Amino acid sequence: MNISAIQKDTLELLLAMGRESHPREFAALLSAKSGIISDINLIPGSIGGKASAQVPFDMVPLGMNIIGSAHSHPNGIIRPSDADIRFFSVSGSRHIIVGDPYGPDDWGCFSPDGIPVRLKVVP
Ligand SMILES: [Zn+2]
Repeated sequence: MNISAIQKDTLELLLAMGRESHPREFAALLSAKSGIISDINLIPGSIGGKASAQVPFDMVPLGMNIIGSAHSHPNGIIRPSDADIRFFSVSGSRHIIVGDPYGPDDWGCFSPDGIPVRLKVVP
């Protein structure tokens, strides 16, 4: 599936989750409908990690159409770390990072190899 967009309310929720978790990270998995990222799946045990976000994949409910991940960077740097890129490669094709101060433009989307990907924001 080619993922080219994210729903505006989904993006706003990710930014709010970053704000609420700050100064800790949150991590979640994303699913999509018709190529549009529309759902956030919180994974038990993935919240509040101090280092890079880690999702325990044995906790992912079966049947979820996971297309990627989202996590926050409390340091405000919207760029994947080396650990992020290792994690991206096993968890889908689109990876969103939100960063402090979690405003409308404080996010980025990346391919599994860490290359920025343009995502449209749709109502
Ligand atoms: Zn990260």
